[in-house]
Amino acid sequence: MAIRELDKPAWTACAHLASEGGCAVWGDHPPSCKSFTCLWRRSDSLLPAEMFPAGCGFMLAVDQLETWPTVVKVCAEIGRPHAWDQPAWREIFRRLAAAWNCAVVVIEQGMRGRIAFAPSGRIYDRATDPAVFPAEGRELAIPAADYGSDRRPPAQRIADAAFRWDAP
Ligand code: SF4
Repeated sequence: MAIRELDKPAWTACAHLASEGGCAVWGDHPPSCKSFTCLWRRSDSLLPAEMFPAGCGFMLAVDQLETWPTVVKVCAEIGRPHAWDQPAWREIFRRLAAAWNCAVVVIEQGMRGRIAFAPSGRIYDRATDPAVFPAEGRELAIPAADYGSDRRPPAQRIADAAFRWDAP
């Protein structure tokens, strides 16, 4: 993640990483770090244990928890750009997009979006649908018809347990 208060670009290690692991300035870490939400950490039941970011090779991050629409980003680990691309993970991304009425977008290094799972079940690929993906000065542009009418924000959906990976 880019941390603007630290002038830290995305895809670089933070200077405050402690050698034994964790954050060396915890408590005084910047507001961007404090407001960041990793979806795996947010709930111990929302996602399977196998989706622990250090193990699976990607992390799910939510753009906005308190407002709709929002985007869930699948952030690939450096050196493991395709770890996310397994049928079981794709199925969770598809179901999460439908349950939260939001886009789930795969982010790879140097790319602000490669694959987008829409709430409708449609999957957009940058190679064939470039107009959907963010570019300089442009946000993700999933067509309005791909969204449902339920506009509850993610925070409420988490509280309501509206999505669980192992729910039918
Ligand atoms: S939480 Fe700490 S280690 Fe992590 S990015 Fe923020 S300042 Fe750096």
